[in-house]
Amino acid sequence: RAKEAAESAARAKSEFLANMSHEIRTPMNAVIGMTGLLLDTRLDAEQRDFVETIRASGDGLLTIINDILDFSKIESGKLEIEEQPFELRQCVEEALDLLAGRAAEKRLNLAYVMDDEMPERLIGDVTRVRQVLVNLIGNAVKFTQHGEVLVELTAGPTADSGRRRIEAAVRDTGIGIPADRLDRLFQSFSQVDASTTRQYGGTGLGLAISKRLAELMGGTVTAESRPGHGSIFRFSFLADQIDLPPGERPLAPVALLAGKRLLVVDDNETNRRIVLAQAESWGMFARVVPGGDEALGLLSRGVPFDAAVLDMQMPTMDGLELGRRLRLAVGGERLPLIMLTSLGLNEVRQQALSLGFGAVLTKPIKPAQLRAALISVLTSDPRPTRPDAATTPTATHLPGAAMGETHPLSILLAEDNVVNQKVALRMLERLGYRADVVANGREAIEAVARQVHHGSGYDLVLMDVQMPELDGLEATRQLVVRAEAEGWTGPRIVAMTANAMRGDRERCLEAGMDDYISKPIRADELRSALHRSAPLAASARLEPEVMARLSRLAETEPGLLADLLALADDLPTLLAELRRAAWAADEAGVAQAAGRLRRRSAALGAQGVAERCAELELLRVPLPERAAWIDGLDGELRRLRLALLPLRVSRPTLTA
Ligand code: ADP
Repeated sequence: RAKEAAESAARAKSEFLANMSHEIRTPMNAVIGMTGLLLDTRLDAEQRDFVETIRASGDGLLTIINDILDFSKIESGKLEIEEQPFELRQCVEEALDLLAGRAAEKRLNLAYVMDDEMPERLIGDVTRVRQVLVNLIGNAVKFTQHGEVLVELTAGPTADSGRRRIEAAVRDTGIGIPADRLDRLFQSFSQVDASTTRQYGGTGLGLAISKRLAELMGGTVTAESRPGHGSIFRFSFLADQIDLPPGERPLAPVALLAGKRLLVVDDNETNRRIVLAQAESWGMFARVVPGGDEALGLLSRGVPFDAAVLDMQMPTMDGLELGRRLRLAVGGERLPLIMLTSLGLNEVRQQALSLGFGAVLTKPIKPAQLRAALISVLTSDPRPTRPDAATTPTATHLPGAAMGETHPLSILLAEDNVVNQKVALRMLERLGYRADVVANGREAIEAVARQVHHGSGYDLVLMDVQMPELDGLEATRQLVVRAEAEGWTGPRIVAMTANAMRGDRERCLEAGMDDYISKPIRADELRSALHRSAPLAASARLEPEVMARLSRLAETEPGLLADLLALADDLPTLLAELRRAAWAADEAGVAQAAGRLRRRSAALGAQGVAERCAELELLRVPLPERAAWIDGLDGELRRLRLALLPLRVSRPTLTA
């Protein structure tokens, strides 16, 4: 009885946590969503700073709540582990990428090494593996002031079951953990001592979650530590492997690199070891030295090299300085150079490129990138320095304007897993976008409706398909119904799904989604999905005088306004007709449908849309461009309907 009572108490606790988290999250989402809107208005520097602080704190609070929710889900046995093929290398690199910024700020060296025996592809739950890695690496970065964080990945022998035990050891050179505290680490809500909380923050849930996730995957998490010297956290899990044919292996040796002589200059021993091992695995001969003087010494003794990899951050002579001196040394004038640098050092990048470095790679070192950079510098013409080149980087090397600026979109991300959220946000951020985040379908609907009723609206929802509470498909269906009932145009919905199964796409489109990308998300796929989305909310306004005229109508002739608004209801149907005619290459049909659309939009005061229709009506849009033209029109019509929304919302009160 006592056992049962205890179990039931534990269950009640988990349920309470789950409910409470949900109750907290809903208003938090509103706070964060509203700060997003506020940030798009005109603010002075101080106000912007305030709003950004609110937003960052809100995000921080949500992370904690999501941790609690995750934990209670695991505790109540509601968590399922997925079995999907994934690439461990990509998973690790994404985890490291999330923490590279923080490591760079603290000047920590962040690196990973992977066992040659590691299968290229595993079958397992990439999201959960990444979540544990992010937790452990995040802790290592958090509790280390000097030195480095190294992730070592090894694969055990194949067991009888055909599965392999994969282990990731995360080593740091941080503050360490006293021996008598080690066993308490994995208990929930426990930190090494109370002062840790004050100094470093955190809920003390990360390790408890990580350990339970590892156990669900057939492995575990263990810790060793020497206080004052550092800690090692080992995370293991079981996974089936998929062997790729040699031709498809991403890091197979290439003939071009074999036999080439590489100079590696890095003060950090781990990095030297990593680059050396990689270079040798590609058949190169590498000489590694810890600093610029040694490198210049080799050159002055006449040792020949085909390429050099230089670290930027070195104590006596940094990578740029060494690059400059190499250019002046005999044998170094045209030596192909690659720079390794920490994240966020854009000036270094510019200077390095203008000095004639063939590539600048950000740490942590990614073997595939290093290999590609080596191939590229060995095949392209090295650019010797010209005296004037140091200050004028060529235009081709300047980073282009972020897509977020040229193609602004307001984005909602609906995704339940915290780490997936972070990965998606990071990818969006790289493209210049910020997104609001919700964790299930219900919250997504609430968020979309809330923004609409504030006269704005999301252009795009990135919707995970599998989510608790309300999944992406059902949420989409409900959104479509709600938008229809309330007379607004919903945002474009892009499904994100891990089931790369056939029929999946159809199910998503059937539910009313507009597009589809598969998980794990690839940056190029995301970019194209964003490209296909038209900004909706940002310019969802009619000309002010048109708006004023329509508002006057609302007061003087509500009946006429209602008729006008009814015109807008048909716009999607007319657009569908136009599409059909265009597909059937029915010229007369195109002209007719476009004509109707033109008259309606003109009646509603949307001159721009009307002009766009006229081009089609007069058949002035060349055939190959027609589809894209109609897509553009689709976006504008959505905008138009959204702009009319405030009138609609106030209509019932007026007629009453
Ligand atoms: P938190 O979210 O508070 O960091 P964790 O469960 O991840 O929770 O960690 C619990 C505690 O374990 C931390 O507060 C810290 O005291 C200790 N800890 C975890 N990782 C390390 C590490 N790499 N070095 C030193 N202490 C660590």
